[in-house]
Amino acid sequence: MKVTEHIKKAKGKTLFSFEIIPPKKGKSIKELYDNIDPLMEFNPPFIDVTTSREEFIYIEKEGLFDRKITRMRPGTLGICAAIKHKYNVDTVPHVLCGGFTKEETEYLLVDCHYLGINNVMALRGDAMKGEQYFKATKGGHTYATQLVNQIQNLNTGKYLHGTLDVDDKADFCIGVAGYPEKHLEAPSIKSDLKRLKEKVDAGADYVVTQMFFDNNKYFEFVEAAKKEGITVPIIPGIKPIAVNRHLQLLPQVFKIDLPETLIAEVDKCADNKQVRQVGVEWCIQQSKELLNAGVPVLHYYSMGKSDNIKAIASALF
Ligand SMILES: Cc1cc2nc3c(=O)[nH]c(=O)nc-3n(C[C@H](O)[C@H](O)[C@H](O)COP(=O)(O)OP(=O)(O)OC[C@H]3O[C@@H](n4cnc5c(N)ncnc54)[C@H](O)[C@@H]3O)c2cc1C
Repeated sequence: MKVTEHIKKAKGKTLFSFEIIPPKKGKSIKELYDNIDPLMEFNPPFIDVTTSREEFIYIEKEGLFDRKITRMRPGTLGICAAIKHKYNVDTVPHVLCGGFTKEETEYLLVDCHYLGINNVMALRGDAMKGEQYFKATKGGHTYATQLVNQIQNLNTGKYLHGTLDVDDKADFCIGVAGYPEKHLEAPSIKSDLKRLKEKVDAGADYVVTQMFFDNNKYFEFVEAAKKEGITVPIIPGIKPIAVNRHLQLLPQVFKIDLPETLIAEVDKCADNKQVRQVGVEWCIQQSKELLNAGVPVLHYYSMGKSDNIKAIASALF
């Protein structure tokens, strides 16, 4: 079922879902299952699986370094298919512009269609590690809107090259990213919202937000999006703080603000075990307020670990 159909079917009841990341290359999928198992009692209608960009590695060869490109966490679609099969749950592979040509994307989407995976998150992807700005891959897309267009074209039976005799059209439900505190490269919230509207106009069916720690940021974003004419569901994506280092890392990577009270609580902690507990409690409070506000889904960034997400979900669902 499509994410939007799950939302409709819930008739206003808030759903629980989460995002996982594929294991590092060479690692077993078992650890992922061990972390999904405890969350299945909360009946997630869908689970998102991220895609990692390619990165450069340097291999020493006769005193010189040879630069190679690799993907440290491959297997997004395989994991989606495996989870769908094992848990009978819908899965949402993240599809990126960065690192993929349009042909590779078409190939991936055709695989999704054959597997019965009809939800995808369409994302641009970040700059490659070590590079300051995002550069489009040769033969790939520059912005997520173009990727949404490509997926939407498939939904109408239009493939990349030429007209085909299509008797089995794809029917993808398309999610896109939204930023309550604006995307780090956007010159203003207003211009970022305009770009979001373009993604929706191109065919996006719903939005999932970047993490935020102050619900007002989400509420203001939803209001501003409505004023911009965005009427699709806006799903809040939230993450519990797990280690002290997140205080620096999250603002640095995502350009988001952390509330003073949260910082003060984390500062009081003697170790990361206590920080994890503070993160859980903060996230429960955040989730309760969002739940009372009637958000369609509470979507958690699990980073592949379930103990804290289970503690949060147990207090709510
Ligand atoms: C819910 C969620 C899930 C994510 N999952 C992943 C993942 O699995 N893997 C991963 O690598 N990253 C992931 N990301 C991160 C995402 O790839 C980055 O935030 C990326 O920098 C932007 O992606 P986007 O799809 O929002 O890009 P876009 O919508 O293309 O926007 C990127 C920037 O360009 C601007 N812009 C858009 N269109 C135009 C235009 N026509 N002209 C000029 N400027 C324009 C926007 O305002 C914005 O500043 C995720 C983010 C979120 C919120």
